Amino acid sequence: MSETRIGVYVCECGINISATVDVQAVAEKVSTVPGVVVARVYKYMCAKPGQQMIQEDIRSLGLNRIVVAACSPRMHETTFQQALAEAGLNPYYLQMANIREHVSWMTDDRRLATEKAKRLVRAAVFRVGHQAALEPRRAAVRKAALVVGGGVAGIQAALSIAEAGYPVYLVERQPSIGGRMAQLDKTFPTLDCSLCILGPKMVEVGRHPKITLLTYSEVENLSGFVGNFQVRVRKRARSVDEQKCTGCGLCQEKCPTTVLDTAYEAGMGRRKAIYRPFAQAIPNIPVIDREHCHFFTKGRCRVCQKVCPTGAVDFEQQDQFLDLDVGAIVVAAGYSLWDPRQLAQYSYGLSPNILTGLQLERLISAGGPTGGQIVTSEGRTPQRVAILHCVGSRDVHAKPYCSRICCMYALKHAHQIREKTGAEVYEFYIDMRAFGKGYEEFYERVQQEGVIFVRGRGAEVQVQPDGRLRVQGEDANLGRLVCVDVDMVILASAMEPPADTDRLAGLFRLGRTPDGWLAEAHPKLRPSETATAGIFLAGCCQGPRDIPDTVSHADAAAMHVVRLFNQGEIAIAPTVAQVEEEKCVGCGECVLACPYSAISRNLRGKAEVNPALCQGCGTCAAACPSHAIHSLHFTDEQMVAQIDGLLEEFVSYSSSQNQGTPK
Ligand code: FAD
Ligand code: SF4
Ligand code: SF4
Ligand code: SF4
Repeated sequence: MSETRIGVYVCECGINISATVDVQAVAEKVSTVPGVVVARVYKYMCAKPGQQMIQEDIRSLGLNRIVVAACSPRMHETTFQQALAEAGLNPYYLQMANIREHVSWMTDDRRLATEKAKRLVRAAVFRVGHQAALEPRRAAVRKAALVVGGGVAGIQAALSIAEAGYPVYLVERQPSIGGRMAQLDKTFPTLDCSLCILGPKMVEVGRHPKITLLTYSEVENLSGFVGNFQVRVRKRARSVDEQKCTGCGLCQEKCPTTVLDTAYEAGMGRRKAIYRPFAQAIPNIPVIDREHCHFFTKGRCRVCQKVCPTGAVDFEQQDQFLDLDVGAIVVAAGYSLWDPRQLAQYSYGLSPNILTGLQLERLISAGGPTGGQIVTSEGRTPQRVAILHCVGSRDVHAKPYCSRICCMYALKHAHQIREKTGAEVYEFYIDMRAFGKGYEEFYERVQQEGVIFVRGRGAEVQVQPDGRLRVQGEDANLGRLVCVDVDMVILASAMEPPADTDRLAGLFRLGRTPDGWLAEAHPKLRPSETATAGIFLAGCCQGPRDIPDTVSHADAAAMHVVRLFNQGEIAIAPTVAQVEEEKCVGCGECVLACPYSAISRNLRGKAEVNPALCQGCGTCAAACPSHAIHSLHFTDEQMVAQIDGLLEEFVSYSSSQNQGTPK
């Protein structure tokens, strides 16, 4: 056993810390604690000279424990752990004291801040002597990826991973990939035809040798951990044999059953009971909607089966289950649109001429139900149209956040309506969020096209007895109420997380942000990673964004997957739970308590932790009635020493047994 030799390094963080905390006084005070060999102050500990200072002291003064008093360990713990490792010291002999987020950013009171900083640093010094050397383990990575969701995000992520040479399973719930982008007519601000730019990517996915496309499918179950996930996918029965079908479309043409298409056509058009969602669908294979098909509901018809030249229609087909082994997962499940029926003032659902932005996209689209004609439900060209921004967004009664894309698509719609119909367009907006490349210029262009902008939320839509629509709102610029009678109202409704996000989050062990979107690991620095290693986010499932941002996000997620695969193996953090078998009575409390399903009972009936699944949260240690589980790096001894450091005066440091002796 060697003597504990502690180095303490107090960071000024420019003036982030030193403006509020007397860092010199902290260093002086802590230097009197037994075991502390040196206590220094430096302007930027995380900078190279700061790290070198620590490394030189380790070598020249024989330090064997290091305390860094600086920012949050989330920011720089790995920086300093690596510095220790480079100097030949085990990285787990480091303890950080957060005197920035927990102290200097909390108060302007210099006296109190300095006092708190002294205690936190002392607590870290008390604790560090009890810390043990830990070694990370390594596990092989299975080099295949799962992408969930085949919108533009999932398509981009799948292609990028596949192009890097790795196999991808792309799972899409709908009969075709494409997502929302496939429903759009043109895209702002360049007004490219949406399917013309998405279509080639969809085709590429369909024929890429490294991509296995599983449409009309969903993930049912997930187990395993980063590098070694096991996924069960349910492939729903299409009632059409994919191997035999040539995509000729005869079945769809002859099918006598027509139903409202609430999915692809957003309720604006109809489709058959056997259908492809749209002409460019990938795969180009129809599916039978069993809820509406006459054969499934009434036991007769079979027209599609009779006309199919290849005998592909198969009414007996059953759902299939596929078990996949993958090393990484990209979740790209997209978004839903908030239903404006939830706020009565928009009168949505009371007139067929009150549409959402997505319904207008289908009306404008050449492939849509009117062949691209913008007409009212009576078939007339509208003379006046009102577009309302922020419907459900920025509203405490619905979604408090900004949906980010609707200002721009509302401008696009104003342009398209002016171009196609010449109608007067009134655009009610709170403020215009034209933040992207070329967006402000597009806004300028639309202003010059004669659109009438009313600065103020469109407060109410009334359906008049003659069917015309009246929109009332306040013009904040003029300070008066505005009332316009129009033929058509377009509601730019909010984006929201899909209804089954709860299930998805549970399945993939993902967190949610307060507004319900899937949570990233860090909002600024790790926007496509999640708290679960090996699972990444792409596109709008993480929050509202337009297509360019979606594509960049998807590429970032793909890059993480490819990096993981290139490494070939992963380091598993050693800060996991550990069972003392002789104390374990096999009660199973920890098995129930563990939120990551990391504990099972072994053949001896004792708890056993899977270190690859364990996130080191400590829930099991708290739950175990026999004190048989410990969280490495957060042992009772370490935590008690830290608490002693917070509470005791400096002189009492050596009173407790055995501390200060490196393990
Ligand atoms: P989505 O397009 O929603 O795709 C998600 C996919 O995942 C879907 O195919 C869905 O079926 C699938 N899925 C969901 N859950 C599961 C599951 N559990 N298992 C399997 N599959 C699942 N942006 C622009 O840049 N320019 C524009 O002009 C533009 N116009 C717009 C107009 C309107 C009216 C709207 C509403 C949006 C517009 N956007 C525009 C935004 C654009 O739609 C999004 O940026 C883009 O679609 C996001 O793609 P995504 O892949 O993240 O999500
Ligand atoms: Fe053609 Fe038969 Fe396929 Fe229908 S099921 S598209 S009829 S090959
Ligand atoms: Fe409102 Fe514009 Fe934000 Fe959409 S993008 S919520 S319309 S401010
Ligand atoms: Fe599960 Fe947390 Fe215990 Fe690890 S520390 S086994 S994740 S409860």
